[in-house]
Parts: sequence; structure tokens; C-alpha cells
Amino acid sequence: MQARDPFSQAREAMVENQIISRGITDARVLAAMRAVPRHEFVPDQFLEEAYDDHPLPVGEGQTISQPYIVALMTSHLELTGKEKVLEIGTGSGYQAAVLSRLAKEVHTVERIPELASKAEATLKQFGYVNVIVHVGDGSLGWPEAAPYDRIIVTAAAPSVPVALTDQLKVGGRLIIPVGERWHQVLEEWKKTVSGLEKKEVLPVVFVPLLGQKGWQDKDN
Ligand code: SAM
Repeated sequence: MQARDPFSQAREAMVENQIISRGITDARVLAAMRAVPRHEFVPDQFLEEAYDDHPLPVGEGQTISQPYIVALMTSHLELTGKEKVLEIGTGSGYQAAVLSRLAKEVHTVERIPELASKAEATLKQFGYVNVIVHVGDGSLGWPEAAPYDRIIVTAAAPSVPVALTDQLKVGGRLIIPVGERWHQVLEEWKKTVSGLEKKEVLPVVFVPLLGQKGWQDKDN
């Protein structure tokens, strides 16, 4: 018999009060948010806050995003289950776990090796076998597995890195926070045969995308 999940009520309340109440209706996204044990991806000292309506520290000065933002970004990808997805910014691995329930294969890139190996261990422990964790500078994408049906960037870029739009398939979508260090706009890009189309989604605040085509360390 499986042990009872002490956080199942908190998780259901998160989905009802933070996600559905803000207008996210995609049944597959809601099911993924109900299924992934977010408390397993946060450090022990924040266990009781795992389902609260805000980001949390995950070590190395980085964060796990607010549940609503994870659901919102995921819903903009409109995943059907057949896609190859690239995530930039593995962090705790939580967003990758959510994506793995909705897509065929997820490649996730993290620049901090300690976070990547912890996320990889958590993902493995909970059976998210279609997630492949890579260490590297995700501002250059991950050309080895390109092209991708969808790309999601969970760190803020000063502008959209060209490598990412290059590695996106025609018909694909990219979701990325773009802007200043403390203020960005979540942008959704669609790649069509005639080029790229941009839609602005929401003002947001993310930690910076550091790297060759992101912010330089000295900027922060
Ligand atoms: N998606 C994560 C989760 O579910 O926990 C949250 C990501 S956190 C907001 C942003 C992450 O992007 C951090 O872990 C940071 O180290 C990483 N990052 C920043 N610049 C990067 C880069 N150039 N390549 C890969 N990862 C990067």
C-alpha cells in the first residue's frame, strides 16, 4: 500500500485557490499540477511553505517559481503529449516534472552543477524518466537535441537569445521572461513559416539568465 501523501490537501487547495481561480482551465495542466509532489522539490526548511502562493529559495541564490507562474507558463505551451521540450533553468526540477507529464521528452539545462545533480536525483527518485538534465549555458540553448517543439525559459533574459528561436521548430512556441533585471514581461513567441510572432502575457520578476547571450555576472 502506498503511504498517504500528507500534502495532498495543500496541493488541491493550491490548484483551486491559486491556479483555477486565476483563470487557468486546461485540464491536462491542472492534472499535472495536482500530481507533482512540489514539497519533494523544495529544501526541508521550506516544507511547510511548499504549496504557498510565492517562489521559494532552492539554494545557490536560486528559486523555485510560484505555482501559478509554473501553471501559466505551462499552459501557454499547449502541450499534447507528443512534443520534445527544452527548458532553460532546471533549478529544483519541479517545472521539468510538470512538463514531463504533458510532453514526450524534456531536455532541461542548468548552469549550476550542484542544482542540476540534485534536480536529476529528485526527478529520478519520483520516476520522471523522460526528463534529461544537462549542465551548461542555456542562453545558447541545447543544440545537441534540437530542434524542439516547445522551449520554456525560467530565468529572465535581456532579450530573446537567437539560439533559442533557431532551435525551435516551425509551428513551435517559446515562452520567456524578457526585460530589465527587476522587471520583465513574460513573452510568448510562435515560429511560423513567415517568421516569429510575439504576444506579451504578464509582468513578472525572475532571477537572471546568466550567460553568453543572457546577463553577464558583472551586471548583477
Ligand atoms: N524551473 C525551476 C524550477 O522548477 O525549480 C526554477 C528556475 S529558477 C527561477 C532559474 C534557474 O535558471 C536557476 O536555477 C539558475 O541557476 C538557472 N540559470 C540562470 N542562467 C542560466 C543559464 N544561462 N543556463 C542554464 N540555467 C541558467
